[in-house]
Amino acid sequence: MYKTLTDIRSALDSGQTTITDLVTKYLANIDANKNLNAFLEVYGDEALKRAGELDQKTKAKGKLYGLVIGIKDNICYTGHKVSAGSKILEGFQSIYSATVVERLLAADAIIIGRLNCDEFAMGSSNENSAYGPVLNALDNARVPGGSSGGSAVAVQAHMCHASLGSDTGGSIRQPASFCGVVGYKPTYGRVSRYGLIAYASSFDQIGPFSHSVEDTALIMEVLAGADDFDSTASSKPVPLYSAEKFEGKAKIAILKNTVDHSGINPEVRAETEKVIAKLRSEGHTVEEVDFSLTDYLIPVYYVLSTAEASSNLARFDGVHYGYRSPRSTDMDSVYKLSRTEGFGKEVKNRIMLGTFVLSAGYYDAYYSRAQKVRRMLSEQISAIFKKYDFILMPTAPSVAFKLGEKTSDPTEMYLADIYTVLANLVGTPAISLPLAKNSEGLPIGIQLMAEKHADAKLFAFSRTLMN
Ligand code: GLN
Repeated sequence: MYKTLTDIRSALDSGQTTITDLVTKYLANIDANKNLNAFLEVYGDEALKRAGELDQKTKAKGKLYGLVIGIKDNICYTGHKVSAGSKILEGFQSIYSATVVERLLAADAIIIGRLNCDEFAMGSSNENSAYGPVLNALDNARVPGGSSGGSAVAVQAHMCHASLGSDTGGSIRQPASFCGVVGYKPTYGRVSRYGLIAYASSFDQIGPFSHSVEDTALIMEVLAGADDFDSTASSKPVPLYSAEKFEGKAKIAILKNTVDHSGINPEVRAETEKVIAKLRSEGHTVEEVDFSLTDYLIPVYYVLSTAEASSNLARFDGVHYGYRSPRSTDMDSVYKLSRTEGFGKEVKNRIMLGTFVLSAGYYDAYYSRAQKVRRMLSEQISAIFKKYDFILMPTAPSVAFKLGEKTSDPTEMYLADIYTVLANLVGTPAISLPLAKNSEGLPIGIQLMAEKHADAKLFAFSRTLMN
């Protein structure tokens, strides 16, 4: 399969392949990898039909002409099912398309199917999907990470060239790390959230998975930008991300208590230190900076994200959308039974937690305190970006863990997000690059963060690291 879209384009231009050929190959790969459970639905006939039409196109080819892409099952596509990995939306069809879907199609991409994910994007292992877990293609006994596990595996196993996921606390970067691909969370507000089924609206961003920074940047050129349907989408102009070059030497900060955290796997730590040593040997400045809030990251993230989720998920009431319990007899039981039967365990946990932290008696103790820590984090991180170009840390404290290994203890599962939630809490862009492996050959992602709206600089530097 081709490494980058540029390679695909030259193969198309020279007549070596056709879009129909490409789609046929991806469909064969999807078929051969059914056991991984990455796709919830494959748009086979539709993709082939569109491929045939695009093959006829001779001029005005879109920026993503030749790109075959899968979308996470929480992104709406008109006339297609969307379930957010939940039984409560089983059978529900979108009546409009997300802005990202409109933009992909307008740029001549082909959407090949809908990808499995944790229910309402809540999870770090893709074991919370109502449609069964997704398996890591490198080792089927291991998880792909979550919540966008299907999106990561679809790219990992070449079932499509790229995919879209959503990242609320790491759900693009952590599975990218576990699967050995590139995963990108844009600056908050860079990509419209219109048509994304909301989990925690002040954290959620849609972003791409791919095999290269080049493709990530190119896809972001199409996705990013203002949108009349999302007032939080920034109207800043979108640079030509794929053309940016990084000149000179970078100044990189390592936050204290991250790489040297007690919870990190020793091999992940050693590999991260190797990357740091290499950067230093190339003349970049890498310095440790004081940071005392590492232990607050997970608690603050889970207080705030569950609070927002409890409010966002109130709309799934058995009346407006999807599942209604056949056992319900009156209004009260429609709500209670539909939600009881429709939502899975983790989603219920979080609705309860979020409702609790927002309740009158506990609001000040939890929600409003967490908001204050979020503000402190933003201030500290902005101060660091006044002196440094990037912050570097591993994407996750471990490599892909075994299925079932963390399901009995939610707090242990939550710790898998320790390095990723920071970027969502403060709204900065962050990328996971497949730069290392452990002794068993399992991928280790290295994460780089840049200041808000420095997405272009982040791509440019990341490209130099991948070479
Ligand atoms: N693992 C985190 C959570 O469960 C992040 C999820 C996400 O980014 N959607 O909340």
